[in-house]
Amino acid sequence: TPIAHDAACIFCKIIKGEIPSFKLLETKYSYSFLDIQPTSKGHALIIPKYHGGKLHNIPDEYLIDILPLTKKLVHVLGCDLDGPTGEGYNVLQNNGRIAHQEVDHVHFHLIPKRDKETGLI
Ligand code: 5GP
Ligand code: ZN
Repeated sequence: TPIAHDAACIFCKIIKGEIPSFKLLETKYSYSFLDIQPTSKGHALIIPKYHGGKLHNIPDEYLIDILPLTKKLVHVLGCDLDGPTGEGYNVLQNNGRIAHQEVDHVHFHLIPKRDKETGLI
């Protein structure tokens, strides 16, 4: 259960297992899962186990956990393969409707980019 949580928040419900998700990696501070409407195959979301709407609402101990977890996911999702297909990825984090945020629980998108789909998940 998130330390700070909102009973109506879909991502808090995902952390608590009240809404199913395709879980990837989890730590004491963070939870990651596949996006339900992926921009590309393997599109992942990384969220703090702390309910806060925007980046500046999240305590540092949670934020500090996010990038190492994202780095591990890069390997899990196979975004780190060198080669002629030019694999890479985007890490995105939106704050506010004007910045295209739809879910008001901070989340980082990890979006694999491939010239050729390699079927890694
Ligand atoms: P935003 O536009 O807020 O940065 O991104 C929200 C993301 O959350 C979207 O990419 C959307 O597909 C994803 N999303 C919304 N609801 C759910 C859900 O219930 N489960 C999962 N796995 N992803 C969700
Ligand atoms: Zn929440």
